[in-house]
Amino acid sequence: MAETAEKRKSGESGAGRCQCRGLLLAFLVAVRLALIACLVVHEYGHIRAMKYFGMKTKGIYLIPFVGGAALSDEKINTRWQDVVISIMGPTFGLFMSLASMVAYWVTGNIFFAGLATFNALLNLFNLLPILPLDGGHILKSISFSMNSVVGLVACVAAAAVGVYISYAFGLALLGFLLLIGSAEILFEWKYRHFSHLLPLSRYGQIFSAVWYVLTVASLVGVIIYFATIGDDMLMLPLHILGS
Ligand SMILES: [Zn+2]
Repeated sequence: MAETAEKRKSGESGAGRCQCRGLLLAFLVAVRLALIACLVVHEYGHIRAMKYFGMKTKGIYLIPFVGGAALSDEKINTRWQDVVISIMGPTFGLFMSLASMVAYWVTGNIFFAGLATFNALLNLFNLLPILPLDGGHILKSISFSMNSVVGLVACVAAAAVGVYISYAFGLALLGFLLLIGSAEILFEWKYRHFSHLLPLSRYGQIFSAVWYVLTVASLVGVIIYFATIGDDMLMLPLHILGS
């Protein structure tokens, strides 16, 4: 990579380099704005859910190198609220990826393909069952609501399937993160009865699990769809996950 960049640099004329620099700057600004848009849309999903439950919100905060956060003064009372507030971020993220996908089909501009893929990857990462990520809240709320060993078994089974899929697709990093997240939730399992949160009903557990799986599957679908188009830039997310 460095070698080709060096070759290109030495082969450029003065004027060409200048134009190149301007284009690069415009590209970096566009990427920066796109990243901010991805974070804001995701956090806005959390805000919408909080408002739906009548919670006062304090707005969206963007933290450099960390991401974003949607804050509220009020505490949640039920595990259903925890699930809905957590999953609405990635759900809004999915809407954004789908909108970018449509924009790509209409315009043919590769920028929208990149945006759809990167945004899908960002939201998929947030759905990893690790606390304090959104996925960790969702898995915890579902499994802690099951009043038996079934919840624990479901948790272990879900993690095992996740780890297996990750390794089968060569996504070692993802599998490793899943293992850590699962261990953390299993550790907290013992103390779940001390929580003041109202558990999910059987229907709520199934609904939450289906919503989670559908969101994950759709985001993976977006990434795989653009990866099969074959552009090197769009293969990047799969390379990152597989490293
Ligand atoms: Zn989130």
